[in-house]
Amino acid sequence: MRILAHGASLPAARTRVRSALTGLAQRGHEVGWLLGGDTPVRRDLALLSGVRALPGLHADVVVGGGGRLVGTALCGWLAQARAMVLDLGAGEVERWGAPERWAWDSLHASALVDESEAARFAAAWRGRDHDRVGLWPAASPAADAEAASPETEVLERACERALARHRGRALRPAVFLDRDGTLIREQGYLSDPEAVELLPGVPRALRNLMEAGYPLVVVSNQSGVGRGMFTAARVHAVMAQLRRRLREHGVELTSIRFCPHRPEDGCACRKPRPGMLELAAEDLQLALRDSVTIGDKRIDTAAGRAAGGRGVLVRTGYGRDEEARAGDRDGDGPDHVSDDLAAAVEWLLERG
Ligand SMILES: [Mg+2]
Repeated sequence: MRILAHGASLPAARTRVRSALTGLAQRGHEVGWLLGGDTPVRRDLALLSGVRALPGLHADVVVGGGGRLVGTALCGWLAQARAMVLDLGAGEVERWGAPERWAWDSLHASALVDESEAARFAAAWRGRDHDRVGLWPAASPAADAEAASPETEVLERACERALARHRGRALRPAVFLDRDGTLIREQGYLSDPEAVELLPGVPRALRNLMEAGYPLVVVSNQSGVGRGMFTAARVHAVMAQLRRRLREHGVELTSIRFCPHRPEDGCACRKPRPGMLELAAEDLQLALRDSVTIGDKRIDTAAGRAAGGRGVLVRTGYGRDEEARAGDRDGDGPDHVSDDLAAAVEWLLERG
């Protein structure tokens, strides 16, 4: 996503949203800081150093504080943003007049409020769209990297949901993509962003999917976190590198999800369970039955099928070995097998 932070509405006291914006830059989003003399969260993050990061001032989402709502909306308009996400206080809503109400309605807006203010907020908010308001997480101990903080997660999801709503209420089919062995070379518990290596044909295949209108959602099992081999922040760093490498080829991933648990943890999100896909579908308004999951393991295609859609196995990564044993049990094998992602995408686009 290209995110424009409306600096004038984000004074230093708004630490939570400022830290979450730093986290979004660390997750590989393009974050620009507009107006406001006050310094961005971290000077060392080049992407947060100013609007230079957003050529032509184009952004998908504008993020601001609720205190200068009209200014935030105007910035969003200037940047041709499609959605606005606000850090909003109950006191700010209580002071809203006609200009603020206009500003709220002028963009696909949503807000994040503090849990402790929820009751007061609900009273001030009466009659407005409750499904456009979310809660910040309860205060958490500071993470060593903002990318892995609950605040960043909440802000990223709020931006994704606001953008999905902008596209309308109709559910859309998506393509769910495994990461290792499907998009990038399989290296076994990869935790070094510098080692990310796109597989041949991947950028063009993803661009074709984008042009056909498919949201691109990466769903990845990262049990190395649960096994104590690396931190969630390292996973975010690798994912950020993937985002940036693909962006160089004109590809923007719609969302990245990963499961940090071990197989024995029995979570709902680890593939072959469909939890990650179901959650993404709820956030992004996706039609699971019409969606396709592409991966180099049976657990990938099984997750897609468990969510109600189709699964395509690719012969890259572990794919050849997995193909050899595909169909050996209970008929839950892939719907199709392709040489690589490019061939899988070709198959999908031909069938529509
Ligand atoms: Mg894989």
